[in-house]
Amino acid sequence: MPDHDVDLFVIGGGSGGVRAARIAAGYGARVMVAEEYRLGGTCVIRGCVPKKLLVYAARFADEFEDAAGFGWTVPAPTFDWKTLIANKDREIARLEAAYATTLERAKVTLFKGRAVLEDAQTVRLVGNGEKLRAKNILLATGGAPYAGADIAGLEHVISSNEAFHLDELPKRILIQGGGYIAVEFAGIFNGLGSEVTLVYRGENILRGFDDDVREHLRSEMERRGIKIITRQTVTGVEKVEHGFCVALSDRESFTVDRVMFATGRRPNVSGLGLESAGVRLATNGGIAVDQFSQTSVASIHAVGDVTNRLNLTPVAIREGHAFADTVFGGKPTPVDHIDVPTAVFSEPEVGVIGLTEAQACAKLAKVDVYKTTFRPLKMTLAGRDTRAFFKLVVDGETDRVLGCHIVGPDAGEMIQLVGIAVKMKATKAEFDEVMAVHPTAAEELVTMREKALSHVREAAE
Ligand SMILES: Cc1cc2nc3c(=O)[nH]c(=O)nc-3n(C[C@H](O)[C@H](O)[C@H](O)COP(=O)(O)OP(=O)(O)OC[C@H]3O[C@@H](n4cnc5c(N)ncnc54)[C@H](O)[C@@H]3O)c2cc1C
Repeated sequence: MPDHDVDLFVIGGGSGGVRAARIAAGYGARVMVAEEYRLGGTCVIRGCVPKKLLVYAARFADEFEDAAGFGWTVPAPTFDWKTLIANKDREIARLEAAYATTLERAKVTLFKGRAVLEDAQTVRLVGNGEKLRAKNILLATGGAPYAGADIAGLEHVISSNEAFHLDELPKRILIQGGGYIAVEFAGIFNGLGSEVTLVYRGENILRGFDDDVREHLRSEMERRGIKIITRQTVTGVEKVEHGFCVALSDRESFTVDRVMFATGRRPNVSGLGLESAGVRLATNGGIAVDQFSQTSVASIHAVGDVTNRLNLTPVAIREGHAFADTVFGGKPTPVDHIDVPTAVFSEPEVGVIGLTEAQACAKLAKVDVYKTTFRPLKMTLAGRDTRAFFKLVVDGETDRVLGCHIVGPDAGEMIQLVGIAVKMKATKAEFDEVMAVHPTAAEELVTMREKALSHVREAAE
């Protein structure tokens, strides 16, 4: 008789939890997963996937407009929000079912409900009070929107969770936030025809990204008619007859139909029983883990957004997989969080990997910068006034490409491929050896010959 009910109990059926469960079961472990909302987690249900579907929807607006320059006559297009949301929901339900099938096939037991820790090797199923002994426990509970300080009228504010289920497309929307979720939703609503105002407390949108990227994206978004107000915050929201009256820290109030906050996300740690099991938190508010995702308690690991390391789906999946390989596959596998390529599905799109110019300058004695901005070919006949931006940050001593920053159509697709070269530690000379693919925008990556800038740090006296 085994002294445990399961070899692995996973709390959270999102990207990281499902991958870990499937791989561990493949190694022969008896696995159970608890999911309190919907299988698939944030990415599938109310994150990456539905977001990208809305991005696609928004981009049709440009396609219809641009078609005229290529000889097409398109009758005035109309857009139906309800159709989009219903179709999106159908696709999400299909994906959710596919996740359930994957677990079933892997012989993983699913508990539909909340689970919490009782101690280092016991999990309590909140719905029925049952307690299960688990040899190992994986915390993969993800994160949730965080609305910031309490302000008057916060109950009228929606987060990205609700934005996916609005009854109708708002004619006017105010979004507070400057991170990737805020700028992506600004692009979505703008493309679908809403009047969009973005309010951000900092100096410029996309904090942490390369300064040129931030400047370029901001000017492109403004060119598309998105009003961007920086160095201000929303101080109150009041329900009025036709919408909501929003007060900003030092501006007059104005009225919109919807107010959305995309002011960050917090790891889902509260009420999880961490204290009873002795699991410690890190200073970033996430669960503290080592390079193998082990917490301060040997039998408990944590992966994904709940650790607040790098909150991206592929990272959560990789961490979940590495955990299963380490604990059940006998292959200790740390996860490399350096040089992770990532995209922002704003309009235009952003794709980045590696160091920004400022980060490289802070780290290295000599930094070379190559950059270019140009009007993509398709935009000429389209008559669209928009520019793409490419930048390479290079170690001036070794010639290694340390960072790549792209703003423009398909930046996300491009950065995935550049990521391979950067991870392989390619030099600028090796980039340049590659023949260009013409006519593409990506050819700029191998044809930027002239240094735009060279930073040399003064030797200390
Ligand atoms: C709007 C939005 C857009 C995004 N876009 C992208 C993108 O384009 N690309 C990208 O890489 N990432 C994107 N992300 C981030 C990505 O969704 C997350 O990094 C990823 O989902 C993290 O996976 P996870 O397994 O850690 O957590 P989640 O996927 O959040 O899964 C956690 C699961 O645990 C469940 N749960 C929590 N507590 C309990 C409990 N006590 N008992 C049972 N179940 C519990 C939750 O219901 C949830 O289903 C986006 C996020 C948002 C919000």
